Amino acid sequence: MTDCANCHAAPAAIEDIEVEPPRPWCLGCATALVRAGDPVLRYRSLGEGQDEYARVLSRGSTAAVRFG
Ligand SMILES: [Zn+2]
Repeated sequence: MTDCANCHAAPAAIEDIEVEPPRPWCLGCATALVRAGDPVLRYRSLGEGQDEYARVLSRGSTAAVRFG
């Protein structure tokens, strides 16, 4: 299991694929980014949290969301 690159305290739920190397985020940190207005829009799933993250993203972001 990959740990979150930010808090190192939780397993990563998603991985930001816009950066090199890809940066893993736990659900809590990824949610904080959405709330801060800087959501990870291009990501791949690393675990069960990705479905929840997709919901957070659809609720928390008014920007055009790109998938894939
Ligand atoms: Zn984290």
